[in-house]
Amino acid sequence: MALPKRKHSKARTGSRKANWKIVALNYSLCSHCGHPRLPHTVCSNCGYYNNELIVSHLKEEIRAKRKERKQKEMIEKVEKTMEEEEQKKKKE
Ligand SMILES: [Zn+2]
Repeated sequence: MALPKRKHSKARTGSRKANWKIVALNYSLCSHCGHPRLPHTVCSNCGYYNNELIVSHLKEEIRAKRKERKQKEMIEKVEKTMEEEEQKKKKE
């Protein structure tokens, strides 16, 4: 096991601990409800993250929102492929 070669002086320990201070928390506002929250975390007030419901006491609510989002994505995909096919036809 590695062992320290020399004794750590009290001055060295003290100077290291002198830089150990309280820093104010950095926070941002929720994009859904405007409640202050920690960055990169789910809002504790409404349970939204990145405009998507993540946490709720109602499981059905989360499922319904997810289903809705997936359906939107599918519609967008179909519309994209339709547009691409139309463009191909125009070129020919
Ligand atoms: Zn919120």
